[in-house]
Amino acid sequence: MSSSEATRTAPTPAPRPGTDARQAGSIRLDRVVHGYGRGGEAVTAVGPVDLTVPAGEFLVLVGASGCGKSTLLRLIAGFERPTGGSVRVGGAEPRPGAAAGVVFQTPRLFPWRTVRGNIDLALRYAGVERARRASRRAELLARVGLEGTERRRVWEISGGQQQRVAIARALAAENPLLLLDEPFAALDALTRERLQEDVRRMSERTGRTTVFVTHSADEAVFLGSRIIVLTRGPGTVAMDLPVPLPRGDVDAEALRNSAEFAELRAHVSHAVKTAAAA
Ligand code: ADP
Ligand code: MG
Repeated sequence: MSSSEATRTAPTPAPRPGTDARQAGSIRLDRVVHGYGRGGEAVTAVGPVDLTVPAGEFLVLVGASGCGKSTLLRLIAGFERPTGGSVRVGGAEPRPGAAAGVVFQTPRLFPWRTVRGNIDLALRYAGVERARRASRRAELLARVGLEGTERRRVWEISGGQQQRVAIARALAAENPLLLLDEPFAALDALTRERLQEDVRRMSERTGRTTVFVTHSADEAVFLGSRIIVLTRGPGTVAMDLPVPLPRGDVDAEALRNSAEFAELRAHVSHAVKTAAAA
């Protein structure tokens, strides 16, 4: 991401008609339970979970594999309806594909298309008129640090770059929510740190509510303004922790090396292990 980005004002995500702009990105889960299958095959994947996320928060969900993190994210995205309780985004039931931009662990792009082709498809799907697409595309690619790659095919760029395309695509729709499901798990450590720094900055500049799923305490502490630790499946809230680290324009390296960071990471790491064993 270029440094000139810092001086640019962030576009305000467009609220849906009838919703209060300030509340459009808020999330509320009331006694949410979700299960898969029926009868003898039925399994409860998550819940009951009560959770209120104010608009603009960077929430990280941490927990052991299988505790229901992805299920919670899918419920917030509106891809699934809970088998019990209610999910509200901006006060309304989330509409699949409209409520949130979603980034998955693997980028899920069209490999034979160019970077530009993948972004344009998302812009078209988001209802951006043809005349506005080129400028919006350039803005999105600059935001994720992919200037100059427009004409390359997805299979020609690195895994980190592919994940950047996926993030740009998720930002295309200008909805107030960004949901990321272990998006950096498959990347090398250096690329992962750079992308973490970019996502941290991006969420602040766009003001979007962000929900990020990970099983890494380190990633959770670096990214989140608030961390929710889930118990083992069916996951419930084991710990709800505000992260008192500085946000805004911070020296990421210094932050990662600070005593406060180390202390919080140890605290979260311990909580995750305890919650998984309970
Ligand atoms: P996590 O993302 O924390 O690893 P998931 O939300 O993927 O957890 O899964 C929670 C539980 O629900 C697991 O036991 C998993 O096997 C089960 N599960 C997830 N998706 C499905 C599905 N589509 N059908 C049946 N069971 C599922
Ligand atoms: Mg998962």
